[in-house]
Amino acid sequence: LGPTICVGEILVEIMATTVGRGFLQPQPLEGPFPSGAPAIFIDQCARMGGTAALIGSVGDDDFGRMTLARLARDGVDVRAVAVLPDHPTGTAFVRYRADGARDFVYNIARSAAACIARTPAVEEVLARAGHLHVMGSALSIPAAAEVIVAAATAVKARGGSLSVDPNLRKELAQDAATARTFAALVAMADLLLPSGDELERAAGVAGEAAALERLFALGVREVALKRGAGGASVVAAGAAPVNAPAFAVDEVDPTGAGDCFGGAYVACRRLGLPVAEALTYACAAGARNVTRRGPMEGAGTRSELDTFIANTPRRPC
Ligand code: ATP
Repeated sequence: LGPTICVGEILVEIMATTVGRGFLQPQPLEGPFPSGAPAIFIDQCARMGGTAALIGSVGDDDFGRMTLARLARDGVDVRAVAVLPDHPTGTAFVRYRADGARDFVYNIARSAAACIARTPAVEEVLARAGHLHVMGSALSIPAAAEVIVAAATAVKARGGSLSVDPNLRKELAQDAATARTFAALVAMADLLLPSGDELERAAGVAGEAAALERLFALGVREVALKRGAGGASVVAAGAAPVNAPAFAVDEVDPTGAGDCFGGAYVACRRLGLPVAEALTYACAAGARNVTRRGPMEGAGTRSELDTFIANTPRRPC
């Protein structure tokens, strides 16, 4: 079957270099960095060696050109990314609080990122995709949600597979229609990659065991539980969990860890690697990414991740 595809917001991120201050006064900023959860995911997927294509839009501006050049360099098929003359590339401004929490100021709704259309190039990718990865953040863009639902239906109908990263961001719309679309996609998913309370929210049931049971009853085959510096586990229906400790790194920027984890995990599983090996690569991809400033500056190729794995101790469980 064809490439892994992802649909949604392509952004540049501009980050405050100070910690604990809001954007209410001028302060030093760093960037632009290529960003947007779908873009980070697909970049890591391609760097891992998976065939990968992205559907989205950028503006006809330097932010868009820089991001597309980076994705293409890393092996992502960007032929279905539209370059729009009338809308600027989407942006995300991020600042860190003293406790490590992040606040985002997004310009998505009025940017190119919100204008995803079913162009002939998009139809061509949808006609051959073998795996769709859904980013919850993209569902808050109505045009993206429409393409995602069409892609999910087409991919599943031809025997392809579907993964869902809930990626719920408080700054993005989580209205009733988005929630319904999200629930429908979870019910079609083969793999779910939640972190924090996203497992229970995706299942609509309290408690980890009950949530897993509900997801398996819906047809989900694997759940990859992301636990930040606590590592990760993969639970498959009827099988013992596979646990992986986190790598011991100094975190300088947590943004993008989950997207890189997902990109590496999905690419590895589609390349035929067993769960435990895929999980090790996924944890390495997430951990390596948090060691660099910028949402996907630490995404790694398979050989870079092999070096990282060989040279980085694990945290005690
Ligand atoms: P985000 O929303 O920031 O992209 P997430 O909440 O979806 O992230 P995390 O659990 O933060 O996902 O990170 C995914 C994986 O990356 C973790 O399971 C872990 O393996 C690795 N990771 C993340 N942060 C760290 C860290 N500080 N040290 C080591 N590994 C980390």
